[in-house]
Amino acid sequence: LAVPDFAALAADVDGLHEELCAERGGAVADYIPQLAEVDPELFAIGVCSVDGQRHLVGDAHEPFCVQSVSKTVNYCLALDENGLWGTHEHVGWEPSGRSFNELALNPQGRPHNPMINAGAIMSASLIRPESSAADRFGHVAETWQRLAAGRRVGFSNSTYLSERDTADRNFALAYSMREQEAFPEGTDLQRTLEFYFQCCSIELDADMLAIVAASFANGGVCPLTGERVFSVDTVQHCLSLMTSCGMYDYSGEFAFSIGLPAKSGVSGALMIVIPQVMGICVWSPRLDEHGNCVRGVEFCRRFAQRYNVHPHDGS
Ligand code: GLU
Repeated sequence: LAVPDFAALAADVDGLHEELCAERGGAVADYIPQLAEVDPELFAIGVCSVDGQRHLVGDAHEPFCVQSVSKTVNYCLALDENGLWGTHEHVGWEPSGRSFNELALNPQGRPHNPMINAGAIMSASLIRPESSAADRFGHVAETWQRLAAGRRVGFSNSTYLSERDTADRNFALAYSMREQEAFPEGTDLQRTLEFYFQCCSIELDADMLAIVAASFANGGVCPLTGERVFSVDTVQHCLSLMTSCGMYDYSGEFAFSIGLPAKSGVSGALMIVIPQVMGICVWSPRLDEHGNCVRGVEFCRRFAQRYNVHPHDGS
């Protein structure tokens, strides 16, 4: 068994959920108007092992937008379609050391990595550029669904419209990349950005995101269906970049103290991967100053104290 005493782990997760309910620090993201309307008290944790043992606590069936967690799936799809070099011709792999939407490119005029906005807009441009908007979105939604064992993903149209109407920064990033000729030839900026916003507005619940995380932990095979969604290499590349760049401008400290690949989003979603063991989702809308879910980061800290999950832990 991947987790020999799953019942004990589940009890620990319940205990952490209860402890962390008292944590009310941080604030709900409000730069996308629709996100500001979410109840800040909502809080869910989902766990799924690579052999399909699952546990849920809290608001685990309440839908939320994946937001930046979509950067992981889109990067994998870009890799699958364009190969490693075909993708990284357009996007780097270094942490930026800046905030997720900072107006900055690397010295080659490329986005620093696929886990920040500029890089994720680039990944979106690399997914089926010749197809219709409907087919491209359908392809991404279907991929999430396969990663989540066939469960149907949702879409928040109001978040999408709200984001599209307040997207000056993302447009600025896209124009600055176009100025540097960073996009593949023929890229349509408006269509690419709309596609990117749509991917951010895909909705899952904590139950589903934990299964997705477990598919990543399981080398790209969904543990509940046995279906391979991404290749082993694709998943390895994505986990590497999640480890170095997945937690906004807190990624270095997170890699130092927790050491696990993770990706957060401004909706308060957090996907954590323990390779070969399990996937975890924590969702709680209040964010810290970096944009990470406050309860999620604290969960990781306390969880890592209890279990030796850091890959460089020699004990
Ligand atoms: N859709 C959000 C944006 O582009 C994603 C940000 C995030 O979750 O980091 O601003």
